[in-house]
Order: sequence, then C-alpha cells, then structure tokens
Amino acid sequence: MLLAASALASTAQAQDTVIHAGRLIDGLTTKPREQVSILIAKDRITGVEAGFVTPAGAKVIDLSKATVLPGLIDSHTHVTSLSRTGNGIAKAVTNSALDAALASTVNVGKILQSGVTTVRDLGGLSGVDIAMKKAINQGSVAGPRMWVAGEAIGPTGGHNDWSHGYAEDVSRRDWGAGLADGPDAVTKLARTEHKLGADQIKIMPSGGVVSQGDDPKAQLMSEAEIKAAVEAAHALGMKIAAHGHGKGAIDVAVRLGVDSIEHGTYADAESWKLMKAKGTYFIPTLLTTQRLYETAKTRPEALNPSTVAKVLAMGPSLTKLTNAHAAGVKIAFGSDTGQGENVKEAALMVQAGMSPAEVITAATAAGADLIGSQDIGAVAPGRYADIVAVAGDPLADITELERVKFVMKGGKVYRADGAPVFVELVNP
Ligand SMILES: [Zn+2]
Repeated sequence: MLLAASALASTAQAQDTVIHAGRLIDGLTTKPREQVSILIAKDRITGVEAGFVTPAGAKVIDLSKATVLPGLIDSHTHVTSLSRTGNGIAKAVTNSALDAALASTVNVGKILQSGVTTVRDLGGLSGVDIAMKKAINQGSVAGPRMWVAGEAIGPTGGHNDWSHGYAEDVSRRDWGAGLADGPDAVTKLARTEHKLGADQIKIMPSGGVVSQGDDPKAQLMSEAEIKAAVEAAHALGMKIAAHGHGKGAIDVAVRLGVDSIEHGTYADAESWKLMKAKGTYFIPTLLTTQRLYETAKTRPEALNPSTVAKVLAMGPSLTKLTNAHAAGVKIAFGSDTGQGENVKEAALMVQAGMSPAEVITAATAAGADLIGSQDIGAVAPGRYADIVAVAGDPLADITELERVKFVMKGGKVYRADGAPVFVELVNP
C-alpha cells in the first residue's frame, strides 16, 4: 500500500508546484509556522511540509521572505454593482443589466487581484451574478470563486423593491424580479432562484439604507414569509442570509433559523445572545457603512435624500461588531462592496476590537464554514490551491492584507511580485 501511494505521488510530481513559504498562517490554526513547503498538484494542495523541500520536477515559487495565507473570502459582496460616483437616482434609470455585466468583469478582476479568491455574492439583478459565476468557472473571466444568491427576495416596498421612490410609471424590466408577498410566493421565488443557479438565498426582512422610502428599523417580512424562505432554502441544501438592521427583524430571522445576519445595525444584547445560542453568523459590513457615512457628509448629491438621512442617523459606528464579538457570536468577513476595495474591511474589524488573527480566520476558515465548503478557506491538503502572500506581518499590521503581492487560485498564479500576471482566458 505504501509503495503504491508513493509511486502515485511521484508520477504526479512532474507537473507539480511547490511554494516555499517563509511564514504560513493556514487559516485553521492561529499560530503561524515558519519555513514550510506547500505542495500543489493541478488545482489542489496535496501537502504542507516542514522546511523547504523540492520534489523532483516541481516548479518552485519562492515566497520564503513572505507571509503566506489562504485566499481570502468576502462573505458579502455585490460584484454586479456600479461605482458609487455620480447621482445614484439618475444611474438607477440610465444603466441596464448589460452595463452591470460589463462592470462586473472589471469588478471581479480587481477583487481577485486584491487577494479575495472567493466571494459570497448576496444579490444581483437580471441573473448577471449567475452568468458571471459560470464565466469564471469555465475560465473565460478571471475572478474569484462565486457563491451567488441571484435576486434577493423581499416584500413590495422593501429594500429590494427598486421602483420604490420613483414615479409609478417609471419602470425597468428587471425591477421587481425579487419581490414576493405571502409565504407561498416566497417559497416559489426561493425555488425559482435555485432553479436559475443560485447557491444561497438572500432575504430582506428589514428595511434598508440605500433604498428609498423604507425604514431600516422596521420588520417588513412577516414571520410566515421568513419561515417559508428558510424552509425552502434548507430543503434545497442552500444557506440563507438575512439582511437585518432593525432588532425585530434580526431576532425573528435568527429564531427562524437563518444562517447569517448581514449588517446588524440595531441588534442589542438579546440579539447577540440569541445568535450565539443558535450559531448564527454575523457579517458586520463595516466598510460600506463607513463609505456611505463619508459620502453622506461630503457628497450627499450622490445618494438619494432619504438615504442621506438614514446614514447620518446610523453613524459610522463600529460598536455593533465590538458587542457581537464580546458576546461570542461567530463572525465572518463581509465588506458589502464589489469593486476591489473589499479588504479594507479588515482594518475596521481590528478597530472594532478583533485581533488580526481573528480577522484572518473570519476571512478564511469562518467564511468557508458559513458557505459550507471544505474546499476553500485553509492552506491544507485536499483544499483548492487558493493562496495569497503579503510582504510583511499581517498579525502585527492588518493593513498588510491591503497590499497582497501574490495571488494563486486553483493552482494558477494571477498575481506575482505585486503585479498582475497574464492568464490566458478561454473563449466562452
Ligand atoms: Zn449587501
């Protein structure tokens, strides 16, 4: 048996790669290891060994002066979103799904170059997110692995009712595709999203911030509707993420079994206790909160007037994460952005009281656990070879993650020596 195994190993070695890592933070343990070799065959990690070893025929990638980590996971993105410059109301009625599709190819390229090799995308219009996942998986677009939600599901007048605030006769073909009222309609839409290619379900139980006319503190989906969404998602083997600002919507969604709460703005001690007891993940989305706050103060014309008021009322507070973390709630890293600046979330998480090591876990192993995948989130045998490296020590300075020098996804190098590497793409 032993002989057969090593014979197999040596035949595979001819096309293998080995990374010599000066320091490895593997995503699973918080203590870094010095001088290790990461063995890679095709798109997977086959071994992690002490010291710098070079199997016969293996190509060596020298990261012996760098800190090597698993590819980062952003558990809350919108890769189909357009930038927040310009007038938001005008943009909503002058950009089509085709514009979003083209913007997305730029977005996913920048996200991958930033060291994020997996995203959990929580809502896109017109199936662009689903098409993008397909294009990346077949190798025709360079981007992170995607777990997509398709259209988020919410009620008429709620956070994803895009026509809200516009004159009644202003309409777009794709507006309204995520609306469902009543438990049967919610069940049907969740099943439809799955049929169309969604990997997870996103619901909007509370009002939102960038939407017009809805109150973030209000619970806008009924218990019966939330329950229907949770049951439909779980029956199809999907996770379910709940957008939640107000305490009422958060507590109900947690009790009914959603897998994660996004934003959590007005959660209180009781909410955190409930989430801890149920094992619900919290995705704090600090970066987008902070960016919106800055925009509301310096360029309010880029936001609709009701959003400016909501953002100023919320403030740029980091204390929701401070409180959730102190209460022992499971935290995953999620920036709620989509244009490549995602990793800036990390420094805010440290400011809120998490240690750099905890933030790295939130952006690696915890993200994988939330997604429900054993293939990502760690530098360990059997996982995809999704590996990044930084020059300095991210445990001393978390902003090192904002300066990723090396990116490998599925054994292919997309960035080396701090610059993009040309990867031949496949014609779709
Ligand atoms: Zn979002």
